[in-house]
This record gives sequence, C-alpha cells and structure tokens, in this order.
Amino acid sequence: MINVLQRAVGNLVVPAAFLLTVAVVALNVKRLPPAPQELWFIGPTVMITIAGTLSLSYHRSRVFFICCVLAFCLWIVGQETSDSLKTVMLFAAVPLNFLLVCYFSERGIITTSGLIRLFFIAWQVALAVYLIEQQVVIDPTLLNPVDNFPTWLALPVDQVTAFVLALSLLGCFVFMGLDETPINQGMTTALISIVIGYFLPTENAWAIFCIAGSAYLVGSLIRDSYNMAYRDELTGLPHRRALNEQFLSLGSQYSLAMLDVDHFKKFNDTHGHDVGDQVLQMVAAKIRQVSGGGKAFRYGGEEFSVVFTRMSADDAFYYLDEVRKSVQNYEMVIRKDPRQDEAEEKVAKKQRKRGSFRKANEKVSVTISIGVADRRSGGSPDEVLKAADAALYRAKKAGRNQVTAA
Ligand code: GH3
Ligand code: MG
Ligand code: MG
Repeated sequence: MINVLQRAVGNLVVPAAFLLTVAVVALNVKRLPPAPQELWFIGPTVMITIAGTLSLSYHRSRVFFICCVLAFCLWIVGQETSDSLKTVMLFAAVPLNFLLVCYFSERGIITTSGLIRLFFIAWQVALAVYLIEQQVVIDPTLLNPVDNFPTWLALPVDQVTAFVLALSLLGCFVFMGLDETPINQGMTTALISIVIGYFLPTENAWAIFCIAGSAYLVGSLIRDSYNMAYRDELTGLPHRRALNEQFLSLGSQYSLAMLDVDHFKKFNDTHGHDVGDQVLQMVAAKIRQVSGGGKAFRYGGEEFSVVFTRMSADDAFYYLDEVRKSVQNYEMVIRKDPRQDEAEEKVAKKQRKRGSFRKANEKVSVTISIGVADRRSGGSPDEVLKAADAALYRAKKAGRNQVTAA
C-alpha cells in the first residue's frame, strides 16, 4: 500500500510539472508569436487521432477507448446545448469513463470484452446525441432525476458533478499507483488537462490543453513501449539490450559484475517454477538496491549484471558483498497461490486428515555468487564482462555464495 502511494505521488510530479508548464504557456499565449487560428481548431483533433492510431498499432485498447472519450469531449464542447448538460457530460460522465478504463485491464479491442467496452462508450455517445437533439436542459440548481423526486434528496448539479469528478480523480490516482506502466498516468493527465482547459479563463485554453493532454498520452504510449523493449517483465530491471547500450556510454573507469543464483535449477525442481520466479523477483529487488551507484540489469535467466561507472573492481567488491549478504539473509515466505490446482489441494487435505499438516507458508532462501572485473581486465566492456564471468565461475568453483574479483 505504501508502495502504491509512493508510486502515485512520484507519478504526480512529472504530470504536475507538465500541466503547470502548459498553463503558463496558455496564459501567455498572446505574448507569443500568433499561431494560425486553424491550429486551435484542428490541433486537438489531429493530436487525438495520432494518439488513437498509435494506441491501435501498439495494441493498447485502453488508450484507444480514452481517445474515443476525448473525441467525444471535443464534440460535446462544440455543441450548442445548455451549459448544465455539457457540465454533467464533461465532468461527471467523462471522468467516470476514465476511471472505468483505468480500472480495466488490457483485453484488446476486437475481443468479446473489447467490443463490450466499445459498445458501452458508443451507447453513451448515442444517449448524448439524443439528449442534445431533444434539447434537454438540466435544471442547474437541482438534480431531479424523476418527477416528484424528494427535494431533500435533490442536490445542486454543480455539487454532484464536482463530487463525481473528485471521486473519479481520486480513483484514477489510486489506479495510477497500482499500474506498473505509464499508461494510467497518461490517461489521468489527459483527464486533468481537459478539466483545466475547460475552466482556464483564457483564449484557446481548451484547444491548448486538449492538444497537451493527448500529446502526454502519446508520450506515455511511447514510454510504455520503450519499457517493453528495454525492461524485463518479471523483475522490472532493464535487460540485456539496455546493458549493451550502457556499454556505449561507459567512460575510462568502470567495473562490471556478473551475479548468478546458486543451485537455482535444483531450487526450481524442489519448489516449482512459480516459486522460482518469486525468488528471482526478490533477488532482483535486492540487486537493484546495490549502493555505490551501481546499476542493475537482468542479463538473462537467473543471471544479473551490475555496472559501476567510475569505480574499480576493488571498491565495487564491497558493495557487491553487501548485496550478496542481503540475499543470503533474506528469508522469503512462499505465497501460496489461492487458485492452486485442485488436485494439489486434495492432496493437501488428505495429508491434513492423516495428521501431517502442511504449512501454507514456507520459508525459503537462496544465495548468489558474484564475479567482478574492471577496465584492467580488458579493452572493451565485452571483454571486461567476460572476465567478470570467469571470476563468477571461480566463485562457483570455490563453493558459491561469495564474491570473486578478476
Ligand atoms: P549454479 O549454482 O552452478 O549456477 O547452478 P544452477 O542450477 O543455478 O545453474 P544452471 O545454469 O544449471 O540452472 C539455471 C536454472 O535457472 C535453469 C532454469 O530452470 C532456471 N531459470 C532460468 N530462468 C528462469 C526464470 O525466469 N524463472 C525460473 N523460475 N527459473 C529460471
Ligand atoms: Mg546460470
Ligand atoms: Mg545459477
């Protein structure tokens, strides 16, 4: 929970800075060289179309749905209808849709759930068209859903809308913290953009914030695919491709370490691949916390690398040994998957009947071996890495759970 909050707050800093910058630009746009009026007219549509097209090609259905909702917002704002109806649609219905999409998991578009979601949005658009055609006016002072609605229950429209908006933003904020990807952040920022854009009392603010919000969404799509290309899904660490790129920017002094989980094959055989995965996540988390400015990568399988820029192998040795100790000392409680195989559950029940009660939570631990080398071991980073690998081999030979320098 703390993690989620931390991430959500961290996630807020960049969007806040972005929105603030856009607001400053919007408020000073008159002082800038004049932009052609068409820009404010077609800019938002173009940007939303770009975001929508990208979301389709990146298979990000949730962003695509948000683009549909944003297009709907553009359309609503351009309609000649009562302000109260506009406010309810833009700041109650639209935020609720954002919240719903933030809650959704990725399920594609041309799938049963995708089509249901699309139909749900289309249905609301149809309802909006109908309400506008019928020139429905919502009494702005009181919300009376039906005739003879008890007056004490009827609330001012603005208050209800503000409440729904606040609740939706809060919900989006929570889902932003839960999301490992930047997508929810992009969608929430787009929602805040349209709210500010609508109310900021300056010329073209709506268009500027629509462009900015959808541009941010495009940015989050690009960041997401960058992460997909450079980050390992299981551990969240950057992987080999990122390491190879890091090699290009290494200076004259650096050291490289190779880390490998000991007897991991046996561990997998004993506890199963799922528990193996959990252990890899734990080991990755420990390696990521390496101090001394080391940067961790998942090299592949149960092997990791750490890069220390501007540091000799002798100095890196100390920080690596700290990592080794922290892995060794960590006892992991195996989470039992509640959806565990029925057969397994039956066996467990039988065992319980026989009196050999099987603990649901078991403690396991692993150790790692580390080899480290620096520039002295070779000319290129690849050669240094080979030397680190050779040192790792020696650490294994010497009994594992230790650091060896080249
Ligand atoms: P050593 O101490 O010599 O390193 O022995 P080891 O068993 O760790 O070495 P080996 O290279 O023979 O085995 C590595 C094992 O790591 C094989 C494979 O099952 C396991 N492994 C690799 N990647 C993953 C993964 O992503 N998840 C899980 N659960 N296991 C993995
Ligand atoms: Mg290995
Ligand atoms: Mg191993």
